[in-house]
Amino acid sequence: ISELDKKKVLVLGTAKSGIAAATYLVKTGAVVTVNDGGTPSENDVKTLETLDVETVFGSHPLSLLEGIELIVKNPGIPYQIPLLEAAMEQGIPIWTEVELAYRSTEADWVAITGSNGKTTTTTLVHELLKRGSKRVHLAGNIGFPAVEIAQQATAGDLIVIELSSFQLMGIETFKPVSAAFLNLSPAHLDYHGDVASYGEAKARIFSKMDASGRLVVNADDKGVMRLSETAKAERLTFSRQQNAYAHVEDGMILIDQTAILPVSELALGGGHNLENVLAALTLIEPFDISLEAVQEVLRTFGGVAHRTEYIGEFVGRKVYNDSKATNNVATEAALSGFQSPIIWLCGGLERGADLTPLGSAMTHVKHVIGLGETGQRFADLAHDQNVAATVTREMEEAVSVAFDVSEPGDIILLSPASASWDQYKTYEERGEHFIRSVQKTGGAAK
Ligand code: ADP
Repeated sequence: ISELDKKKVLVLGTAKSGIAAATYLVKTGAVVTVNDGGTPSENDVKTLETLDVETVFGSHPLSLLEGIELIVKNPGIPYQIPLLEAAMEQGIPIWTEVELAYRSTEADWVAITGSNGKTTTTTLVHELLKRGSKRVHLAGNIGFPAVEIAQQATAGDLIVIELSSFQLMGIETFKPVSAAFLNLSPAHLDYHGDVASYGEAKARIFSKMDASGRLVVNADDKGVMRLSETAKAERLTFSRQQNAYAHVEDGMILIDQTAILPVSELALGGGHNLENVLAALTLIEPFDISLEAVQEVLRTFGGVAHRTEYIGEFVGRKVYNDSKATNNVATEAALSGFQSPIIWLCGGLERGADLTPLGSAMTHVKHVIGLGETGQRFADLAHDQNVAATVTREMEEAVSVAFDVSEPGDIILLSPASASWDQYKTYEERGEHFIRSVQKTGGAAK
């Protein structure tokens, strides 16, 4: 972007998106300083050494702001640090990488936000759009940094991106052609302070859209409906429970009254995933993908790893890995998606969350297997609901108990409703350990 030539820009935070932003900015002729409050990875340091940038690591000294005309910040850095407070006082614009990416390409954007279901919906939308005539790119958390993708995309292409509220806080002109606002839960309150500001951050996804844009919203989510009332884009609803632009009637998925596929033929399991499917289908409707292609994708797309991911059938038990479910809402959604008896593996890092809301989601749960720091609290919850429970110390033991207490036709589901950091580095590691244990125990039982 020519407006960046000779501009003094401060990039806050390294990692994938910070490095991508710095690389792009240097190319446009900007004068770049990269600052990281901690110690960047060796790889990042090496890459930065090859770029013509100044680097400051270890803290965020206020002197960094001298002469700075723009800040591009990592979404994870809070606005409350003194450096950013001073920058805001001085009226220096603060963008996230997405705004930079948006300004750097002529391609069109399809954006997805919400508290849960972003990655699944974004991946499905990408799979569906690939079947159309346009070139399509996947950007953001799951793909490559948006700035990098934007450099590869040209006019007429589509870029599909999932956007967290943290990313949306730093947009100014970002205007997608289609956007979805899936749901709103109070899961990220510690960062945003209250539901209102969290919701408002998410609502920024459509704030620049006009009547030519399509905004897809969840009719069953009051918060989403209220926040999107003022949107200027064409607002289309999806619903699992009521009549809507996209909904289900007699087991058939209908988009604007057109039959797409029976729900029973969806590869993607779980009731909440039906919402993601309805949203995705409404998002892609204007792009003329043939019905046959859409049906084929829906019959084969089994979801994204660690998100109610179907692992397979072991001695008659269907096994699902939902390690990504680190809060109540995600786990409630997973539990409510099954009609067969569930052996539920849950628990992990203790954060003092109130578990009682999960009680009412336990209708089909037949046995609770508690794991990790919160394992005992989940067992207590089970007892309150008159459901059997076993507390275990680690995953292999938990999986072995799961096979012992289950019978053919049951579901074995890992959906922890807790973060993994008491026993694992990441939720992926936890999910992989679960899958290995299932293959070992379930395979042996075969
Ligand atoms: P995100 O990218 O928003 O974190 P994911 O697609 O990765 O969402 O799914 C995260 C977790 O949320 C998974 O455990 C999944 O079971 C659950 N989930 C997925 N879609 C929804 C939805 N529409 N509503 C509620 N929970 C959902």
